[in-house]
Amino acid sequence: MSALTQTITGFETWHLALPVTSTRDHGIGRVSGACEIIVLALTAEDGTTGWGEASPWVVFTGSPEASLAALQRYLKPLVLGRRVSDRAAIMADAARAVAHCTEAKAALETALLDLTGQLLGVPVHDLLGGATTKRLPLSVSLANPVWDEDRALLERLGEDGVCLVKLKTGFKDHAFDVMRLEALSADFPDFNVRVDYNQGLEIDEALPRVRDVAAFKPDFIEQPVRFHHFDLMARLRSAIDVPLLADESVFGPEDMARAIREGICDGVSVKIMKSGGLTRGQDVARMAARAGLVAYGGDMFEAGLAHLAGAHMISATPEITLGCEFYQAKYYLAEDILEEPITYEDGHIILSDRPGLGHAPDREKLRHYEVRS
Ligand SMILES: [Mg+2]
Repeated sequence: MSALTQTITGFETWHLALPVTSTRDHGIGRVSGACEIIVLALTAEDGTTGWGEASPWVVFTGSPEASLAALQRYLKPLVLGRRVSDRAAIMADAARAVAHCTEAKAALETALLDLTGQLLGVPVHDLLGGATTKRLPLSVSLANPVWDEDRALLERLGEDGVCLVKLKTGFKDHAFDVMRLEALSADFPDFNVRVDYNQGLEIDEALPRVRDVAAFKPDFIEQPVRFHHFDLMARLRSAIDVPLLADESVFGPEDMARAIREGICDGVSVKIMKSGGLTRGQDVARMAARAGLVAYGGDMFEAGLAHLAGAHMISATPEITLGCEFYQAKYYLAEDILEEPITYEDGHIILSDRPGLGHAPDREKLRHYEVRS
């Protein structure tokens, strides 16, 4: 009998509030105090547990309350009593059971893959096609409204061997963005700089501001305007000679098809929390590559389980060539939830060959950070 014919007998969730070390401003919103995630544990008959994480952001993808309700009320009945090997069927049922809630679906697929990998003794990246690399270049975002604090972070990043940074823009004024770009090129010339507006620009100001920023020749400029402004994204793209990336405009493969058809971007930020799972994230990246577009491994405000899920996905998706941004566990959370930290080495995330995700959360931390309403 295959290990995967076991049925899933346990389905547990935790709603966590994880303290963060600073305020971060993004075009469409601010994060301070704590970020909230949902952790999911699926248990097989023999007691093996697979873990997943839903990492929503309320102004971007959805709320932790919606993720929790999707998992507990609508997805749990689809999962309990099913075989571990029924992963594709479970995910197809999940897609029909509740609209949107992509973070909950990402947590579900992550936990199913982690459980499958542990039962088979293989890492998640092997279940997704096999690792093409186990060293993923790390990008860290600069989003602190106090520039001196980000300058201190840049010093630390330089010492850690990180050479990719993403400047978050469009949350204060244009002069602040230009000042920081000038400082980056004058004082930190060793970093490759990307720019991300997180939808922060108004329609009438977008073109001149994006042109100014493009003059600094960043690697790319990401999502300057609101997600639904496909026409405006296409116009901005044609007005600059720096690649324009779509993030909030492209959640899953369906949006990617429209983005390609309407020519709104030169590349896409792929996030499992937007696509609704690891395999759908791979679909987005492959569609982009087929259309001649580049792909970047983005994330939300995540803890270690979601970072690992994204990292396994990217390592098995050679179409994602611009690195990844799984930095919060090391550079933003006061404390991550894993028993043993993710390995960061010389500006890269290092993946192991241990079964499943390769790490489990510390149950004591789950109890400590749980939101009790
Ligand atoms: Mg973005």
